[in-house]
Amino acid sequence: MVPASPTECLGLHHGGAGWTRLLAAGRLASRGGVSATPRIGPLHETRLHGLLGWTGRRDTLELLFVSGGAVGARSDIEWTEATWNPTTGCDRTSPGCDHCYALTLANRLKAMGVDKYQADGNPRTSGPGFKLTIHEDSLGIPFGWKQPRLVFVNSMSDLFHRDVPVAFIRSVFEVMSATPRHTYQVLTKRSRRLRQLAPSLDWPSNVWMGVSVETTRYRFRIDDLRAVPATVRFVSAEPLLGRLGDIDLTGIDWLIAGGESGPRARPMDISWGRELRDHCVECDVRFFFKQWGGRTPKIGGRELDGRTWDDMPDRTAV
Ligand code: SF4
Repeated sequence: MVPASPTECLGLHHGGAGWTRLLAAGRLASRGGVSATPRIGPLHETRLHGLLGWTGRRDTLELLFVSGGAVGARSDIEWTEATWNPTTGCDRTSPGCDHCYALTLANRLKAMGVDKYQADGNPRTSGPGFKLTIHEDSLGIPFGWKQPRLVFVNSMSDLFHRDVPVAFIRSVFEVMSATPRHTYQVLTKRSRRLRQLAPSLDWPSNVWMGVSVETTRYRFRIDDLRAVPATVRFVSAEPLLGRLGDIDLTGIDWLIAGGESGPRARPMDISWGRELRDHCVECDVRFFFKQWGGRTPKIGGRELDGRTWDDMPDRTAV
């Protein structure tokens, strides 16, 4: 296996139709009819579900996703379109982190030689390639995306991790503010730090702020979120590991629910999802059901009571 390195990806077009297929033989083809034969090694599609964190120096092809054979500068996460990782790496902080997909993926990306994933974290809480790392050179990436995008910030990290300096968090917010054509989704489990820093940050209307809540024990994160002056506040109940009950959704605009996926996925009870859906409908909160989960993300499907639930807040800039 010869991994693609950032410089080998330079100059590839990553907008418009986007790249759609990475052939195992090492050829990249796009739906838009453009094709190129960069010096990409024989990446094996089926082993690379998720993102590949490439960042070019002259051009940026920061994120490629491989999902069922599709590769693009776009995300395959159902509730977003692209991802941007100005920091990478993290440390497990609560049971929702037990099977962190980013930690597993960072390990693979390190083995592939991807620059952003070479620092090893604490083996007790993190892992190979997953040490919290700041990437100043990734700050400019959203400026290069000419078309408006819905961007998940730090899909491979947590912006409010204690090791991210406040000045860098401010820089990320400045970029989001300076690129109002995009809508940003920032999701954290570090709600205490979020709450503490929120008054010192500028909150442009294109930033949606969210917290993850996997069991009732972490409902306090919603209280912290409520104190944040974001235009859109959202809760990610994924992986949902227990019944959340009638959580207080005052001031919350959107809730995403979903079961865990992966080889050691913990099952989600149908009643937990139903109860959250009903509570959202009752409280007039938009509800998005991502997946039931299981061995793979798609295996259990994403219908709840015979239909999909894809409600989302309105975008400010699209
Ligand atoms: S907070 Fe998120 S990125 Fe960090 S270890 Fe937990 S699940 Fe992974």
